[in-house]
Amino acid sequence: MNDMTATPIAEASSLETDVIIIGAGPIGLFAVFELGLLDLKCHLVDILDRPGGQCTELYPEKPIYDIPGIPVLTGQELTDRLLTQIKPFHAQFHFGEMAAALTKLADGRWQLSTDAGTNLVAPVVVIAAGGGSFVPKRPPIAGIEAYEGKSVFYAVRKMEQLRGRDVLIAGGGDSALDWTINLAPIAKRLTLVHHRDGFRAAQHSVNRMRELVNEGRIDFHVASVKALHGEDGQLEAVTLASADKKEWQQSANAFLPFFGLTIKLGPIANFGLNLHENLIPVDTAKFESTTPGIFAIGDINSYAGKLKLILSGFHEAALMAQAAFHICRPNEKLRFQYTTSSSSLQKKLGVA
Ligand SMILES: Cc1cc2nc3c(=O)[nH]c(=O)nc-3n(C[C@H](O)[C@H](O)[C@H](O)COP(=O)(O)OP(=O)(O)OC[C@H]3O[C@@H](n4cnc5c(N)ncnc54)[C@H](O)[C@@H]3O)c2cc1C
Repeated sequence: MNDMTATPIAEASSLETDVIIIGAGPIGLFAVFELGLLDLKCHLVDILDRPGGQCTELYPEKPIYDIPGIPVLTGQELTDRLLTQIKPFHAQFHFGEMAAALTKLADGRWQLSTDAGTNLVAPVVVIAAGGGSFVPKRPPIAGIEAYEGKSVFYAVRKMEQLRGRDVLIAGGGDSALDWTINLAPIAKRLTLVHHRDGFRAAQHSVNRMRELVNEGRIDFHVASVKALHGEDGQLEAVTLASADKKEWQQSANAFLPFFGLTIKLGPIANFGLNLHENLIPVDTAKFESTTPGIFAIGDINSYAGKLKLILSGFHEAALMAQAAFHICRPNEKLRFQYTTSSSSLQKKLGVA
């Protein structure tokens, strides 16, 4: 769609704010700080179930050496520190939700709708979506699409949905192991399958999983899922195959494949923005896209000389915030202030 052609009024259940931020990666998080200093309130949407974007999803334990003033810290530590820094501003997070559609309202504001049915309304939208949204890798099993969302799930949004079910989990990383451990007490039966008897997950999770197997509370097979059997999207059984090509059927009515994530631009491609090679061109004074009120910061934007570095995104967030202020508070003057010397900024930060 290009929902921008529509001019409806906001949904009655909409949550109103100053700025909607798509993406809670490092740049979306720092944007909360810069906007917060100017008294602008934010709601953030991220398809992941936690903040940090690439830093926590792709390299939580890798050291980063080029954050100014901090000689070394990991992706997770940077995220934790950013969360501490933005605490005074009470941003609202909508995790596990995909920013799905953007609509221009008759009053000039924007309505962002998520795939979970949340509607956010604000005069400014900041796209800090990095390379796009992390989407689960679909295993190559014929006909799996028909079961997705009904009995095949790539994420666990509500554990209760799986209570009393015959659950099969596939994968060897942290998600597969964490959900094996968490769902074991509530599933009727839980089976973990992985193509080898070695795991990429945290050692303590692997140890706990093996304890559960030894206690007879779950089953583990070195095997892969070859076929799904069921009707109308409701899984009844699966065909498993061992490394030596032996096949057998086993009952299962919920299947959770955890084979990692890939990055796709996703619905942002349909927001009606002027994209260039899946990036959003911006001006370098405000980091606004060619659509007024829509800004793009961090890895998602493009301009002459762009460097996909965290420090570049931080700079972009600061300039974006100044421009966003004038849209959100058209009748107010903006005074440039330093956090070191402004008592009003220090009050906002809770340090004065
Ligand atoms: C292995 C590795 C090492 C790196 N090392 C460094 C380094 O040492 N120094 C450095 O400066 N940079 C480094 N980088 C790059 C750095 O991680 C990125 O520049 C940075 O993460 C960009 O931040 P961002 O907030 O723009 O995007 P991201 O971190 O990609 O976050 C974007 C967020 O938006 C969400 N999102 C996207 N689309 C949607 C949607 N439609 N709905 C909901 N949510 C959505 C995503 O789920 C994601 O959480 C490294 C990158 C990698 C992969």
